[in-house]
Amino acid sequence: MSLRPGTVARVNRLVDRHGRAHRDLRVSLTDRCSLRCTYCMPAEGLPWLPAPDLLTTPELIHLVRLTTTLGIDEVRLTGGEPLLRPDVVSIVAALADAVELSVTTNGLVLDRLAPALRDAGLTRVNISIDTLRRDRFKEMTRRDRLDDVFAGITAATRAGLHPVKLNTVLMRGVNDDEAVDLLRFALDAGVHLRFIEQMPLDAQHGWRRTEMVTADEILSALSDAFTLTPVAGRGSAPAERWYVDGGPETVGVIGSVTRPFCGNCDRLRLTADGQLRTCLFARTETDLRGPLRAGASDRELADLIVTAVLGKQPGHGINDPTFLQPPRSMSAIGG
Ligand code: SAM
Ligand code: SF4
Repeated sequence: MSLRPGTVARVNRLVDRHGRAHRDLRVSLTDRCSLRCTYCMPAEGLPWLPAPDLLTTPELIHLVRLTTTLGIDEVRLTGGEPLLRPDVVSIVAALADAVELSVTTNGLVLDRLAPALRDAGLTRVNISIDTLRRDRFKEMTRRDRLDDVFAGITAATRAGLHPVKLNTVLMRGVNDDEAVDLLRFALDAGVHLRFIEQMPLDAQHGWRRTEMVTADEILSALSDAFTLTPVAGRGSAPAERWYVDGGPETVGVIGSVTRPFCGNCDRLRLTADGQLRTCLFARTETDLRGPLRAGASDRELADLIVTAVLGKQPGHGINDPTFLQPPRSMSAIGG
């Protein structure tokens, strides 16, 4: 494990019963969003969390900093759309010295915010883009904002954020003919592209196994235009990577459904309302907000977190016949 300057090596207390040490925390800043991606939420949006239920910024920073004393050293701010949180720049400034910090965003307001986020200490960003075609973007997200995403990608690279990674979900018969174009676009822009298999996490429960575009299909489509060579040493990263035409550029595929990587998972999640989740697909959560507001000590909160990690399931179970989609959808968990 590499340590940043000034970091004190300490024992990771977030080791589960399957020997997995947890280092990566995904923190949802809000469940709200400025887009309505069809594979994520319905056109009318969702019943948003009531404001009093959301962690306040001091509460959020307190809990994240506490997890860093237990073993977390990477934090990704997500949502919903994390850049909708009005004080996102202050949150970045408050956490950037403690952890390796990144943001996953739909990119709509990055054009405006990228320099401020960089100045606050952000170094890396993931931007979601599923199509390069304006009409299609409008259909897929129910908003005519593709130009804002392009501007956001340009602003992120101009601000010197590195790496800039693009996330793409392909849907059969919708945008699965764009795999090659999207990779060409990423290579030209000097950014890294990762395809994510569509997962059963949409609020409408519209996911169908037969409809999802698999990692094999994505790789086959890319192989028609590029020579792909596997990159060794995936570690706990969700993406498998391939060199494109000999490298050094690479493309990633996150095959959560058909190539699960649960055995190496090192991720935990904190929802915007202060619930700790040990898996995207977990059906149980550990309330941290209630005890925090009731005056629990850091030791008591740490015990709750450690106990939750001990109870983490070995895998997501998507491929079990008994699989049940979790009650919270992706945007409410923090993807
Ligand atoms: N709104 C931000 C964004 O879109 O980047 C952050 C939150 S979003 C939930 C994070 C990532 O999850 C995005 O790349 C999005 O495409 C992906 N995502 C959402 N629903 C998904 C699903 N059902 N299966 C796979 N990926 C999904
Ligand atoms: Fe919003 Fe991200 Fe969900 Fe799209 S994927 S609706 S941008 S949270």
